[in-house]
Amino acid sequence: MTIQNLVDQYKEVSDFLNNKWPLKDHDQRVFARTMKIVEELGELSDEILTSMNLQRDTKIAKFSKQNVEDEYADVLGSLILLGIEMDMDIEKIIQRKIDYTRDRFDMEDLTQK
Ligand SMILES: [Mg+2]
Repeated sequence: MTIQNLVDQYKEVSDFLNNKWPLKDHDQRVFARTMKIVEELGELSDEILTSMNLQRDTKIAKFSKQNVEDEYADVLGSLILLGIEMDMDIEKIIQRKIDYTRDRFDMEDLTQK
């Protein structure tokens, strides 16, 4: 799966969400998508705390690595949905940021070998 393929699949999710729960305008959709990232990040944090035995015993008893992975995917998916709503070229901006990090820390580009 490429990033573009991921984005294309989330465009279908975005269309579905916009049809099922229509919001007034673009600003409301950006706000809703941003709040969803915060919600999902909270859920991921909860799962990570559980994985570190820093939660109630009842939560720790229900821990599974798949729950952490699912919440990680929810965070990533909600970030992609915000990027789609804001008409970002997600693949391009991620590559730009990786290039920036490589340059900043003088890292070798292993994809060029
Ligand atoms: Mg979630």
